Amino acid sequence: MTVPSENKLTIAIIGAGIVGLCAALEVQRDGHDVIIVEPDEAGGRQAASYGNGTWLNPSSVLPMSTPGLWKQVPGFLLDPNGPFIIRWRYLPSLAGWLIRFVLAGRTWQQIEACAAQRYELSRTTAQDHAALAQEAGHPKLIRQNGLMFIYPGQADIDAESQAWQLRKNLGIRFRKVETAELRQRVPELDDSYTLGMQVDDGGQVVDPNAYCSALFQLALRRGATHKKARATGFSFNGNRLSAVLTDGEPVPCDRAVIAAGVRSRDLALKAGDDVPLISERGYHVVIPDPGFDIPTGLMPSDGKMGVIWTPQGLRLAGQVELASLDAPPNWGRAKILLNYVRRIFPALATKADQVEKSIGSDNYWMGHRPSTPDGLPCIGAASGSPDIFHAFGHGHVGLIQAPASGKLVAALIAGREPGYDATPFSARRFA
Ligand SMILES: Cc1cc2nc3c(=O)[nH]c(=O)nc-3n(C[C@H](O)[C@H](O)[C@H](O)COP(=O)(O)OP(=O)(O)OC[C@H]3O[C@@H](n4cnc5c(N)ncnc54)[C@H](O)[C@@H]3O)c2cc1C
Repeated sequence: MTVPSENKLTIAIIGAGIVGLCAALEVQRDGHDVIIVEPDEAGGRQAASYGNGTWLNPSSVLPMSTPGLWKQVPGFLLDPNGPFIIRWRYLPSLAGWLIRFVLAGRTWQQIEACAAQRYELSRTTAQDHAALAQEAGHPKLIRQNGLMFIYPGQADIDAESQAWQLRKNLGIRFRKVETAELRQRVPELDDSYTLGMQVDDGGQVVDPNAYCSALFQLALRRGATHKKARATGFSFNGNRLSAVLTDGEPVPCDRAVIAAGVRSRDLALKAGDDVPLISERGYHVVIPDPGFDIPTGLMPSDGKMGVIWTPQGLRLAGQVELASLDAPPNWGRAKILLNYVRRIFPALATKADQVEKSIGSDNYWMGHRPSTPDGLPCIGAASGSPDIFHAFGHGHVGLIQAPASGKLVAALIAGREPGYDATPFSARRFA
């Protein structure tokens, strides 16, 4: 839909991670002019969109906080090698978020409602990304080859049966992979994993950095301009937006979209919304030249990490570390990922030893999942101005949810019905 020229707006998109880029492309489809305000490289190392697990998993509908999770919190605090850690000294500053987090997942009714809302943003993720990559002229950056959760045995699948049933109720397609098929498809996998659950509609962004760059170039080819600056606030005429303020010149505009990932909190506050947004820090390690390919992304049930092929090598991505946004990386967390991979793929033990010696090199990365306590992003008009829109807080699933989030932002700016109830995503839920 292209708006008549008298309705054409100038829209500033703050942040060129995957969410900002998808929003930019969708508002361009409506005929608006776009200015991308981003101080760094689109999808560069500073962005969560750079180093994630690359998973496009439509079944990632359950929030992190589920009933009974609070019982595990002491274990998280004490187990230095688990998939989740809270750095003790930051506990007081994180306590408020943690309480909201636990309360958001008290009952299965809450989880079911949250999962249905997340599914609205996830159901066609791989197809949507494939279409965007095609438009950008890089179709090979998206693989639609499914994803697989791997388990030691049936008891481990049974322990997650409620989650799988919930996915089934939403209409998500998956199937059990028996031992013989698992061995045949992933011969290098350790014998201790005997079963899989395959999500056929899933896929992968092959190289998220290259993909963000391709989408950024597409937006520029379609007329967007890039303002290389850091947004610092807004200026208004009454409550109508007149410009995005930056550490350089102001950027005059009619509308602004806050898509600055974990750094969105201060901007949202200046737009009238106090959102409990923190960083769930995560890590990746790459094993270059692993010597074999894997047919699909794998997630071991005991490691809660993604193991996936990328052009740089086998990427191991995961870990949740709660600490302050600006605390230095603890590369020991990345070493835990290497320990898991030694167990999953014993043939990689020597290569893992070599990678471990290059700790802190380019094979290592730490990034910030922009996380709200209730597992839903903030998408919608800001309380302080009808001209500022939030598009942040996607936590563990920003890559998955970015295309639908971009479409939702465009619909809200246009005053169009998105086709589902988008009020659960409003930042006003935290008021
Ligand atoms: C280890 C790990 C694994 C993950 N695995 C997956 C996965 O497999 N699948 C999935 O869907 N998600 C995954 N995620 C989550 C996903 O990466 C994020 O949800 C997503 O990238 C967030 O995108 P974003 O555009 O909101 O933020 P970002 O990618 O962080 O981009 C924000 C951009 O805003 C810019 N910016 C910041 N401040 C300002 C400012 N003041 N002015 C202008 N620009 C600014 C930054 O420079 C940056 O470029 C993972 C995350 C991690 C850490």
